[in-house]
Amino acid sequence: MRKTLTTKVKNTIALIREIYPKLKDGYPFIAFSTGKDSLAMAAMIYEAIAPDKLPCLYVHHNFEFPENLDYLAELKDRGFAAEALNPFLEYFELTDRGIGFLTLTDPWCVPMLVGTGLLDWLQRKGARGPREGIMFRGMSGSEYSRKFHTGSELYCRLDLPCFNPLLEFTKEEIIEIIKDRYGLPLNPVYKNMERTYCICCYTSDRRRQTYSGQRYPQVCEQYYGHIEKLLFDSGLIEKSNLAPEHKTREEKLQRHGFIYWRRQKTQNVIGAVKCRLSSGALLYHIRESDWIATKHLQPVDGKWVRAGNEIRFWDVQEKIADTLIKRMINCLDCGFCMVECFPCRQFDRTTKQLRIAGCIQCGKCLRLKFCMGWRHRFWRRVIVEN
Ligand code: SF4
Ligand code: SF4
Ligand code: SF4
Repeated sequence: MRKTLTTKVKNTIALIREIYPKLKDGYPFIAFSTGKDSLAMAAMIYEAIAPDKLPCLYVHHNFEFPENLDYLAELKDRGFAAEALNPFLEYFELTDRGIGFLTLTDPWCVPMLVGTGLLDWLQRKGARGPREGIMFRGMSGSEYSRKFHTGSELYCRLDLPCFNPLLEFTKEEIIEIIKDRYGLPLNPVYKNMERTYCICCYTSDRRRQTYSGQRYPQVCEQYYGHIEKLLFDSGLIEKSNLAPEHKTREEKLQRHGFIYWRRQKTQNVIGAVKCRLSSGALLYHIRESDWIATKHLQPVDGKWVRAGNEIRFWDVQEKIADTLIKRMINCLDCGFCMVECFPCRQFDRTTKQLRIAGCIQCGKCLRLKFCMGWRHRFWRRVIVEN
């Protein structure tokens, strides 16, 4: 290995040795994608803290190539404390519940398909919230990652502190470290792709698309069929003010133009009608009774009543009542909002629903920041005033 690279590696190992003792009160782990970056990082961390080993957590979902699991088993045999986790819900389970496709604006795949597995692990380990976790993330230094990331930061989507020790390393250096310093094998998926993409990744290239299409034609058909249904079969694309060349199936589906889609007002549907009563109470008439799930109202229990499709609040600020209703009528039961309240919110993997129990009405979750239903339901249900 080149001398300059050896020095870089030694400095990184020294840095990890310095911070590691300070992490022992938390729940440190390596976010392990089975890709080259996370492998190089794990190897350096293991060298730095030996004989300790941080868990290498890999979240396997249905869009991951199955050989990732074989590769993980191989790394386990080589001494890595590798563990495979699962997300709360798979991609098509989420689309069946009404989530939209992935776009460049706030893509939900990482938090929902990877993040929920990690959050679940932290909750099971006994963490009181994601801020008690510490994620080591193998992100090597492209121009983009150096511009938008620092060595230590809060990963806002999961509210999770993280270290990015590889920002100064190039792709070529990462491969050199894996092969020459540690003698480790790369994930075989690299023979066919540049990165360890999902089968259907919105940040696609032709080579990956062709490879996925040949191996998993049904998955790809379902993936693009869902987008086609939302944009074309619904007539939405015609109502958009896009130029004609951006309204074609070819552009949106084959050339992945769907990633530039921006939410349109026409995607809003009436979910509830609100009235302000002379008594000062607020009344919401919910359009469909099966959009009512009163578990969401626990943070203001004692201040609401339900009669049929109507919910009435008193002594609750309008902004908070609106938030609770928006969350309730758009809920996908995805479980993601457990990120805000480990003690009271859990995802029940048997019923595949969010469970809220033991709410102490602290008020910390009275916002929509972490509600994936509100952010990503394709046909968003909104409140209108009577
Ligand atoms: S590979 Fe693509 S689709 Fe899969 S999680 Fe990463 S960004 Fe999302
Ligand atoms: S964050 Fe507070 S208000 Fe929200 S569910 Fe948890 S305990 Fe209840
Ligand atoms: S309230 Fe929002 S984040 Fe929570 S389960 Fe429902 S959709 Fe998911």
